[in-house]
Amino acid sequence: MKKVIDVFLLFFIVTVSYMGYSVYHYTVKSGDTLSLIAQRLGVSVDSILDLNLMINANKIYSGERILYVKPDGVFQSVNKGDALWHIAAEYFTTVKSILKNNHLKSPNLLFPGEKLFIPSTIMCKTSDKKTGVIWPVFGEITSPYGWRINPITRKKEFHAGVDIGAPEGTPVFSAISGIVTYAGWYGGYGNMIQIFNGHMLTRYGHLSKIDCYVGEHVKQGMIIGRIGSTGLSTGPHLHFEIRINGTPYNPLGYLPYVYWSGEGKKLPTPYQEGMGY
Ligand SMILES: [Zn+2]
Repeated sequence: MKKVIDVFLLFFIVTVSYMGYSVYHYTVKSGDTLSLIAQRLGVSVDSILDLNLMINANKIYSGERILYVKPDGVFQSVNKGDALWHIAAEYFTTVKSILKNNHLKSPNLLFPGEKLFIPSTIMCKTSDKKTGVIWPVFGEITSPYGWRINPITRKKEFHAGVDIGAPEGTPVFSAISGIVTYAGWYGGYGNMIQIFNGHMLTRYGHLSKIDCYVGEHVKQGMIIGRIGSTGLSTGPHLHFEIRINGTPYNPLGYLPYVYWSGEGKKLPTPYQEGMGY
């Protein structure tokens, strides 16, 4: 028995030191809340919610097993045809940081099904924070703000935000720091998150997954959910909205014009591509 444990321990230590992270289980005790657990374990609520598919942030129960990873972070599955520069862009980070944190030697050695570990500390490092609002997702504008013909109902309507196209599962980040005032199903918006900073309200619609809960204080650049196509939607995208005193404003008036990849390369910006510049 001792030998088995030793072998297991050795395997565990090797895995941890090789991969640079370790995955643990926590069993919920009575009186626990998700934020208390996260605080005690030294991880974020958002990464716990991202990692655990079945968990209900407001209804955790005694005996429920929660997966968490240290250092704090999330996993990103590699799909067929994925390139590391694109995954790095999706996390607004550098190829170098991802390689380093996954002990990979070359960006060309990815295989489908592989799970990359993305520590929270490297997310949104290359985001341009000058204008105060950051891009919540990496993608192209597929439908601008303003009057349009609704793609589903074919009726004329006012589009109160911008649609940013991105594959299902792409991470969505909080564009501002603030408090989560809504997180759940909201009619045509599908799974929607609302974050308010006392002045500006931001909305994130059509998500496949919600990684935050109402009342949570989120920091700008924290992962809050994943791209989906829930509600009234024709394909995976983010509906991003900015409101001040209830009035919607064009998010492109607040978002930075350009962003830079960590490699010092100017990436095609959603603004330029989507608007036909
Ligand atoms: Zn929209």
